[in-house]
Amino acid sequence: MLRRLTASVPIVHKLYFTFSVNEEYKIQILNRLKQIKHSDSHKDIVSNGYVENLSIDQDGRVIIDLKLDQDYRKMKALCSDALKQFEWIKNLDIRMAPKKENVFTQANTQKRGNLQNVKKIIAVSSCKGGVGKSTIALNLTFSLQKLGFNVGIFDADVYGPSLPTLIGKEKQQLYAPEDKPKEILPIEFNGVKTMSYGYASGNQKAIIRGPMVSSIVVQLVQQTQWQNLDYLVVDMPPGTGDIQISLCQELNFDGAVIVTTPQRLSFIDVVKGIEMFDVLKVPTLSVVENMAEYVCPDCNHVHRPFGQGYMNMLQKQFGIATAVSIPLYGDISKYSDLGSPVVLTLPEDHTINNIYRQLANNVVHELSRSDLTKTPTVRYDTGKRVIIIRDFDGKEKPIKSVELRSKCNCALCVDEFTGRRLNQNQQLDQEVYPYKIEPKGNYAVAIVWSDGHRSSIYPYKRLWSDEIIEHKS
Ligand code: ADP
Repeated sequence: MLRRLTASVPIVHKLYFTFSVNEEYKIQILNRLKQIKHSDSHKDIVSNGYVENLSIDQDGRVIIDLKLDQDYRKMKALCSDALKQFEWIKNLDIRMAPKKENVFTQANTQKRGNLQNVKKIIAVSSCKGGVGKSTIALNLTFSLQKLGFNVGIFDADVYGPSLPTLIGKEKQQLYAPEDKPKEILPIEFNGVKTMSYGYASGNQKAIIRGPMVSSIVVQLVQQTQWQNLDYLVVDMPPGTGDIQISLCQELNFDGAVIVTTPQRLSFIDVVKGIEMFDVLKVPTLSVVENMAEYVCPDCNHVHRPFGQGYMNMLQKQFGIATAVSIPLYGDISKYSDLGSPVVLTLPEDHTINNIYRQLANNVVHELSRSDLTKTPTVRYDTGKRVIIIRDFDGKEKPIKSVELRSKCNCALCVDEFTGRRLNQNQQLDQEVYPYKIEPKGNYAVAIVWSDGHRSSIYPYKRLWSDEIIEHKS
């Protein structure tokens, strides 16, 4: 129906007719709504950001979401009135915008059972087994302890509990405190409280699967007397399936460290991992690339048997703040097998210790960031025709749509591994604009453009950087 009504509407783009027509209609509506002032403010409802969503379909159905609590009814009436003049609106639906909690605000406030006095819970996760996840979880725990924190580690990897072996406590009996028979005393090692399914199972893997496993693991961690801890590190079972998801939901992780190796397939896995935590509203604090390089003990030559890896790309694409790389180092394996964690065994100034110290510092720093749970907003200003990123302090950066569209780093635009831009000769529509802007976790937005292209990810960090040129009006 809208197409028939377009005679008086200038068509800006020939190619993307429907979008352009929509765009013009949106501008008409917004200009009209700009004449409505909100009683609490001298500004109009559009400039005040009360119009959260505006969509128009081909049949002349207009949906407007108003971000208002108190004056919603009054404003709805004023808006309906103001838009009466547009005959092409066949169906006007003005709704109260659903309250959006900041994506991370619900997380991490509720900790149950004996986790109530644990300040921060960190998941150490990988998509595959054998990449060094348990070794890294354990050495991260001791590195956090060396920074002066009270820490514990929980081995939730029921399908391959390795903590008992890694600290030489394979034949360990578990005890309940006399006054609380339903609770379990953790096993202490070097001042760190530890718990593993392996203690209870005599180091055997779980043979049950599915929801039972999750409930056993959750019960074990909640019944352990952790007492007051600054950090509890959880060595997750590998993968991104049901058990990982229920652990995330039950334990309310404050952040995750993702462990990977430099092969291409691992990159795909790590993306899956980041996305899983993202969906579950757990920020990824750091990515650890394990066994990426090997330093020859005779000539000190650095070998990278799996190539350059993809850490830069991960940081670029997902805006992961920190990443560390741990080399393949024989002593890590040797001391692990002896039940002596490498960071407690090697000299303090050893490269491996320095890397783990850096990882621990990164984790502490990321978790202490007051803005970890706050995300900037990215919106399209239809009037000014620019995309605006706005941080929580009110700082704004306007960006021309075509500038951002031309700098899309998705797999169709940039070769994942060489970083080479693939579509240099493509003629971009200079009037392109975002059709949909979708937040991705606390680190980025994805954009669907009016030319049909989907830009998978623009990390906020990148939007603020000089690489994306600010539009000066
Ligand atoms: P996951 O928990 O991912 O299954 P583990 O932590 O059990 O992996 O590690 C698998 C094996 O790799 C172990 O024998 C461990 O000692 C060894 N390992 C882990 N990281 C390194 C490293 N950086 N250098 C040498 N060996 C390592």
